[in-house]
Amino acid sequence: MKTIYFDNNATTAVAPEVLDAMLPFFKDNYGNPSSIHRFGGSLKKHIEKARQQVAALINASPSEIYFTSCGSESDNMAIQGFCTQTGNGARLVTSTVEHPAVRASCQAMANRGVTLFEVPVDSSGLLEMETLQNTAIDERTLMTMMWANNETGVVFPIQEVAEFVKSKGGMVHTDAVQAAGKIPIDMKKVPVDMMALSGHKLHAPKGVGVIYIRKGTKIPPLLFGGHQESGLRAGTENIAYIVGLGTACELAQKRMAEENTRVKALRDRLEKGVLESCKEAKLNGDPKHRLPNTTNISFKFIEGEAILLLLDEKNVAASSGSACTTGSLEPSHVMQAMGLPYVLAHSSIRFSLSYYSEEKEVDRVIEIMPEIVDYLRQLSPYVNE
Ligand code: PLP
Repeated sequence: MKTIYFDNNATTAVAPEVLDAMLPFFKDNYGNPSSIHRFGGSLKKHIEKARQQVAALINASPSEIYFTSCGSESDNMAIQGFCTQTGNGARLVTSTVEHPAVRASCQAMANRGVTLFEVPVDSSGLLEMETLQNTAIDERTLMTMMWANNETGVVFPIQEVAEFVKSKGGMVHTDAVQAAGKIPIDMKKVPVDMMALSGHKLHAPKGVGVIYIRKGTKIPPLLFGGHQESGLRAGTENIAYIVGLGTACELAQKRMAEENTRVKALRDRLEKGVLESCKEAKLNGDPKHRLPNTTNISFKFIEGEAILLLLDEKNVAASSGSACTTGSLEPSHVMQAMGLPYVLAHSSIRFSLSYYSEEKEVDRVIEIMPEIVDYLRQLSPYVNE
């Protein structure tokens, strides 16, 4: 029986078109693009084509696109690079619901003496703008804030935040790993200086990412070595994966409308069906400002992990909290930051759909969820407390 894969915020399937585009670079075209001979050197043009495809998805210039190994590397490069470049007096402002790639990088900088301030979110997961507006920001400040949250799908007002921070002379980095390919991103309109993208969230393989660096922004490399990527990211280019990411970006651009109609309608059908059929179920995250593919629901008095295991038995893959933090028994930092009571924070399940999700899969999950919830409630030590 085919797995119903509703965990696309954790990772996505490689699109068949992406795999086809990559295969020649494992077989015949295995040269090193830095070589003088044509066998290697002629491959550079494929990297440049991919750079254009990525740039087109976010309306940037190809010269502002640098390939990395993943979203985490791009986030680290932006945050650590800013702190190195700024030196004494560097300040980081971030939100309380960032992915560990940003949180841990900020914390590492704080441990080295950088001032760190976290702007809280409200109970819907939306940024408290008033707190941000009262935060000290100057030309030694980097605001690093995600475009969309991986757990709730909540989309942040990046335009407003970036305009505010820039008006105070600060710099802006955004982790757009979950947003790219799902909602429009226009770098000509949004004044962010740096942005992280990741291949495996948009149907390219794991192990390839992008850092967007706006023209004129100066940051040092994270990896020193060869002169690849204009000297900003050393290491022989992972050409097959770069080509895959370029193809995935082109596909995402074509499919964006469908993501926001068909996929969104499927997500809404799933959400409505589950909320109506399961008792004491509550939606987490602002329903309006959300990615089209994500829903996060708490089932009061039940452990999220227990729901996941029973879903898994029925061949449904979903997630509780972020995949990177499962294994820890603490409720996710996102749910805690939103101030959810323990019985709700501990019971949250994220379903994240994709272009490949189908209506019959949604209906199957709507059918099995009430059985799972009723069964686990009978066993719950919290219900009769
Ligand atoms: N940022 C966000 C919001 C994410 O969801 C993830 C992955 O889960 C990352 C960063 C890290 O991306 P990567 O797995 O490519 O390092």
